[in-house]
Amino acid sequence: MPSPMQTNADMQAVATALHEHDRFVVTSHEAPDGDALGSLLGMSLALEELGKDVVMFLGGPAPLPGEYRFLDLESRGLRRVRPDDFAERVLVAVDCASASRVGAEPGVVEAASLTVNIDHHHDNPRFGDVNLIVPDASSTGEVLADLLRELGVALTPQIAEALYVALVTDTGRFQYANTTPKALRLAADLVEAGADVHRVFQGVYENVQFAKLKLLARALESARVLEGGEIVVSYLTRADFESVGATEPYSEGIIDVLRSVEGSAVTALIREPPRDDGPVHKVSLRASVDEVDVSAIARKSSGGGHREAAGFSSDLSMEEITDFIVREVRAQLGSAAGE
Ligand code: 5GP
Ligand code: MN
Repeated sequence: MPSPMQTNADMQAVATALHEHDRFVVTSHEAPDGDALGSLLGMSLALEELGKDVVMFLGGPAPLPGEYRFLDLESRGLRRVRPDDFAERVLVAVDCASASRVGAEPGVVEAASLTVNIDHHHDNPRFGDVNLIVPDASSTGEVLADLLRELGVALTPQIAEALYVALVTDTGRFQYANTTPKALRLAADLVEAGADVHRVFQGVYENVQFAKLKLLARALESARVLEGGEIVVSYLTRADFESVGATEPYSEGIIDVLRSVEGSAVTALIREPPRDDGPVHKVSLRASVDEVDVSAIARKSSGGGHREAAGFSSDLSMEEITDFIVREVRAQLGSAAGE
């Protein structure tokens, strides 16, 4: 965990880098969630407030999750291909745990001349040229709120709403363990500055595509409890996605329903993405007890994330991935687990 002094120095280094340059390309991670998209928009709007030339970019062609359509990213100019002058712009990566996830396509960091890395994942390897990583922040949106103060950018209603989306989604609507007093105070500040709580609620949580509900039904149907109930695991095959008419991002949030099962310590959702250009399987992991660090399990398979929420890709079979997870959870909980 960086000291407050290190964070302060990092904050100033990032503020200086943003003040000193004029042209930026702001991006976030593959399979973007609310923190990724809210932070992407909030950072871009803040740079525009400073009079900068800003392009928002997320590599295509994966559709954006429908829950965030009300942010109007596409009509606000989000590009799905890199701008021609990409190499002349400073890259600002928000909410990206590792270089390989930046920009939702390979090689983005490598192609940038200068990268500013702003994030809150504890295992972020500081892949930027300038880095601001605050692991005890609830969300990247919370890091950005502090950065904006440092930059002297006032919260417009649009910036406030974008950061509120980041905050409300990454804290599980202010219910996860990362919901600190600071996060709650920030929520009040953002609402005061113009974030519309009810509009965001309706946009994010009451705008579920029918096919997503049906995909959830598939996942509930396939769910199994293992190790005497300590592990809940479920599966979504390509056939599941296709039979309900769902695209890949429809699986976001399903794991949060699965993890609510009584007595569960770890929850896994193993899915076969309905497209040909990616890994065979994507895995989401959630820990519900302090003794388990699922990011350590994800890292063993070249993934990452937080102690309580992590993920990885794998070309192993669903069966083999399940065995791997069970083995790793057992090792972390001690050999008595599940016996
Ligand atoms: P989710 O399960 O919602 O896709 O992701 C949960 C957390 O794990 C997020 O913080 C995300 O950044 C991280 N994560 C998910 N998949 C990967 C992956 O393939 N690699 C890395 N490094 N992190 C991941
Ligand atoms: Mn985040």
